[in-house]
Formats: sequence, structure tokens, C-alpha cells
Amino acid sequence: MNMDSIISLDKEYVAGTYGRFPVELVSGKGSIVTDAAGKEYIDMGSGIAVNSFGIADDVWTAAVTAQLGKLQHTSNLYYTEPCARLAQLLCDKTGMKKVFFSNSGAEANECAIKVVRKYSAEKKGAEYYTIITLVNSFHGRTLTTLAATGQDHFHELFQPLTPGFIHVPANDIGALTEAVEKGKIAGILMECVQGEGGVMPLTAEFVQAAAKLCRDKDIPLMIDEVQTGNGRTGQLYAYMNFGIEPDIVSTAKGLGGGLPIGACMMGEKVQNVLGPGDHGSTYGGNPVCCAGAVSVISRIDDALLAEVRAKSDYIFSAFEGAPGVESVAGMGLMVGVKPVKPAKEVVMKCIEQGVLCLTAKDKVRLLPALNIPMDALKKAVEIIKAACAE
Ligand SMILES: *Cc1c(COP(=O)(O)O)cnc(C)c1O
Repeated sequence: MNMDSIISLDKEYVAGTYGRFPVELVSGKGSIVTDAAGKEYIDMGSGIAVNSFGIADDVWTAAVTAQLGKLQHTSNLYYTEPCARLAQLLCDKTGMKKVFFSNSGAEANECAIKVVRKYSAEKKGAEYYTIITLVNSFHGRTLTTLAATGQDHFHELFQPLTPGFIHVPANDIGALTEAVEKGKIAGILMECVQGEGGVMPLTAEFVQAAAKLCRDKDIPLMIDEVQTGNGRTGQLYAYMNFGIEPDIVSTAKGLGGGLPIGACMMGEKVQNVLGPGDHGSTYGGNPVCCAGAVSVISRIDDALLAEVRAKSDYIFSAFEGAPGVESVAGMGLMVGVKPVKPAKEVVMKCIEQGVLCLTAKDKVRLLPALNIPMDALKKAVEIIKAACAE
């Protein structure tokens, strides 16, 4: 079937929730992805920060297929080694104590929200259910994580959402302090770098003030690392750039390296909040996804993280002050370039020139594989720069 028939088939039968680019992808290797016509693109999006080690990476593929050939699923009624090993690996590398596995980022956040609601209800009273999140945040598409998301345009058509969420402006320590003083607060949820909101890093002062407020008031701090996690920002998790210790870390996207898996990691304060029957997921901790995630997490070492930071420096210096570029923001290999012209136009031009990148609000968003080769990165950056400059 040719590309045009696939596109019309998709348009006819797949729910119209996505604005897709007119490209049918069929295969790839590393940071190169190939469309149905055989055209190659440099992948600067990684399937939205999912393919941590690129496409069909040999080590990852071997880990996943070895598990796939043994046992693909068990349900959570039984033990499996990949699930137990992944939980241990995550706890060893973060200092967290327990992990709940889900299938997506939204579900990882749902788990985090349930944990803080239960913790606060038991410790302070049922009226302590309100969760503070930030204006311009993104936490997922379920009705509860939409309620957590601090962007009104996502809310309008789906009322009523889960009650008990308030939003304060990012980087406004006064507003956060006031919300904590005035409300009966169960938890605070934030991204260290707002991804969908336009690749906006929080200030260190704000993140640290939030952590201190939470510690002083015995309010669990939840950091949403769905996009920022798993090496993306140049540390294993973005909170590690800020010198804080959250009580809960949720992650997904890059964790499985291309397979659907999410994790809600719980620190000391909340490690025993969830008990038998409190939460569950049929696929959660699936052995194939966990085998992929063990492979990903065990390869994110200091050398790789240093490489991520060096490539980040390269991207920042290439775009800062470049013609047609207003600003550059982000952290690690999560970068938002604000072009003078509309971001979508730049992305379309890049597709033509053989580079896939994303948008976030009015920015061109770059989320390449953590191990993108320097020559591919340089070539992609030149093409994106040219598209901005034109
Ligand atoms: C993508 C994302 C989510 C939602 O993840 P899904 O896997 O799409 O449910 C939640 N939070 C952040 C910060 C994200 O970037």
C-alpha cells in the first residue's frame, strides 16, 4: 500500500485526535528514520522523548526480544524477574524506596495523586485533598491528570473534571507559599522543565523553595519526570539538577526506550502508603517492557550523561543569536528554539529537508536520542538553523 492510501485509510478509520505530519514512517536505525518512499530523516524527536537510544538499537532490541521469546505477560498475580530488577535499579539510582509500574505517563501521575491523597487523608484528615500544580503544566489526558494540567484550553470540553486541583504561576514563590498557607493541601506536583508548555525550565530558587515548603509542612512533593526523566536533561532525573529530594517521582516516555511503561517511584515518606488492593494495572510491570527499561536505565551512566550535557551545550551555542531565532531554552537534550516565524513552518521546512522535529507552543522542540551521533546532530542543527533563517 502506498503512502497516500495509508494516509487516507488512517484519516477514515483512526479517531481524529492527532494532527499528523504527512509522513509515513516504516523503519530506521539509531537516529535515522526512513519513510515509505525510502527518504531518510534525522530524528530530532525520538517519538516525543521515547526512543532513548534511537530506533532498533541493538542492545535494547536484544534485551526486549530475549524476554519476548520467553514470556510476554503474566499479570500481577505472579512474580517476574524483569519487574523486580527494574524496581531495584530505579531505587538504587534514585534513593526512592518503592515503585508502582503503569503503562503511561498519565497513569504514573494518577498513581502519584492517589498516594498523596491517601497519605494526607490518613495523616491530616479527609479535607486535605487539594493538589497544587503550576500554570502552563502538562500532566496527562485522563480526566484527573487533565484537572492537574494547568492549561485551561485542555479543560473546556470535558467538564466536570476531578475536583481538588489549583494552579499557581511557575516560579512565583509568593503565590506558592500563599496557596500552601491558605489551603488544605495534599501535595504539590510539578515538572522541573515544562515540556508541552513550551520547554520552560523552572528556576532553581523556585524548585528549592517548593521542596522546603513541602518538607516544613509535611506535604509530599511530586516531580513529574515523564518527559524530563531517564537521562533527558543531563542527569538521570531532572530534579537531580536542582539538589532536591522529592517524595514521589513519576516517569514514563524514555523509560522503556520505545515500549509503553510508566513508573511512580515513592520515597521514604510515602513508601508504605499503598497497600493490597489500593491500586493496580493489568499490564503494569509487563516483563517485556521492564526488560526494555532495565536495558535503558542500566546504560544511562555518568559518561552518557556527560555526553548529553556536551551535546546540549553544542545545540545552545549553535542557536543562541542565530538569524531568525528569538531565544533558546531547555535543559540537556530537551531544547525549545523560538523562531521568529511560526514554529510549525520551520518544522514543515525541516521535514522537506530531512529532519524530524517537534513543536511545543511557539517553539521548535528538540528531543533527540540520548546517543545521537555528533555528525547527525550537527547536520540536523544546520538544517533547522537554515529553516529558521530563511
Ligand atoms: C507526556 C507527558 C505526560 C503524559 O504521558 P502519557 O504517556 O502520554 O500518558 C505527563 N506528564 C508530562 C510532563 C508529559 O510530558
